Amino acid sequence: MPAYLRSPILYVLPTLLLAAGLVNAQDRPIVLKAGTVLDGKGQILHNTIIVVEDGKIARIGGVAPQGAGTYDLAGLTVTPGWIDTHAHVFWHFHDGRLSSVGIEHLPPIRGVAGKDESPSQALLYAVDNAIVTLNAGFTTIQSPGSPEEKDLRDAIARGIIPGPRMLTSLEPLTEQSGPPEKLRELVRERKQQGADFIKLFASKSIREGGAQTMTDEHLRAACGEAKSLGLRTLVHAHSAESAKAATLAGCTTIEHGAYVTDEVFDLMAKHGTYYDPNIGLVLQNYLENKEKFLGIGNYNEQGFAFMEKGKAIVLDTFKKALKHKDLKIVYGTDAVAGAHGRNYEEFIVRVRDGGQEPMAALASATSVSAESLGLQDKIGSIAPGLDADIVAMDGNPLQDVTAVRRVVFVMKGGKVFENLAPGTRRKGAQ
Ligand SMILES: [Zn+2]
Repeated sequence: MPAYLRSPILYVLPTLLLAAGLVNAQDRPIVLKAGTVLDGKGQILHNTIIVVEDGKIARIGGVAPQGAGTYDLAGLTVTPGWIDTHAHVFWHFHDGRLSSVGIEHLPPIRGVAGKDESPSQALLYAVDNAIVTLNAGFTTIQSPGSPEEKDLRDAIARGIIPGPRMLTSLEPLTEQSGPPEKLRELVRERKQQGADFIKLFASKSIREGGAQTMTDEHLRAACGEAKSLGLRTLVHAHSAESAKAATLAGCTTIEHGAYVTDEVFDLMAKHGTYYDPNIGLVLQNYLENKEKFLGIGNYNEQGFAFMEKGKAIVLDTFKKALKHKDLKIVYGTDAVAGAHGRNYEEFIVRVRDGGQEPMAALASATSVSAESLGLQDKIGSIAPGLDADIVAMDGNPLQDVTAVRRVVFVMKGGKVFENLAPGTRRKGAQ
């Protein structure tokens, strides 16, 4: 009999707690009984309790407080809520084709795809995506980005719509945004508009070979201005040259980096520049859903042929990156239409195919990503004082990484959003 079936309290309690309104109440403490806890920073705890009060982790261990509501997670593995540093929550399909709403960086697509879709339909697809992403165990995502994301971010933050905590760049900047002075102005404008960070496109897509597009001067202007305003910068950069230029310009994170060399990884490690490899979900998802993208923008046969080859290229680059022990690797999937709610696949490819230690992959998706967002004092580990973003899965990912597909308990900010019997199938994402 699997361990979870020996914990009948897991099934019974949620109903009782919901009936009593306890799940949403912040006045009574909540106790999570945990058999195995991976704290997100490399520590393993056994047979302990996590006490949650006012949406935060109050303490770990000791005696359960009187009158607390209890969730028995003893047969599961408990970790901090996961962070996806690169998930395009608005991207979705409408009538079996890619919609243009919420797509940031592909101007030819705007007005071409998803023509007969209403704004409310588009928004509700994004809500679907937010919900399946949260239910999959991701309590924080960073979406880079489109103007539509702001209202969704704010509604989730108000507690109206279930979804991961969201950070957005709003509209990204590209080589077409203007000369350096104009870029500085646009960075200031994004901050005023409420962007959490700045997204830059410094190279072409992998479908087009990934050559540098923004000049070194563009990058210095944009990343320099952002830094002076306290904003982080995420840079789409495939070629080694573009990643090097972004690193030297003081940008925060390199996204994708398919063709980054050992020399540039060394430079990134030296500068503390984060690397976000996206090897496990985005290309696989494009190939699985080819007919829904084909013929739109640069999603042509040549582009798909490039993506097919790209899977091996990004995997090799990731293996190369792992050898640079000081390089900080964050966990982003680049989830687009069709991929939401499967953000955990990145874990599996990293560990199974890339050779990353499961504990390192978990730290990447929790404490390292939290640090890259500047949120290490709020999320990314199971420690007193942090927000109670906690997930539990059926199985132990240190022994079987596919356990990450079986998240059955999701708490964000002390509120339980999911508590399912293991094996229950979720609806797929749009
Ligand atoms: Zn992206």
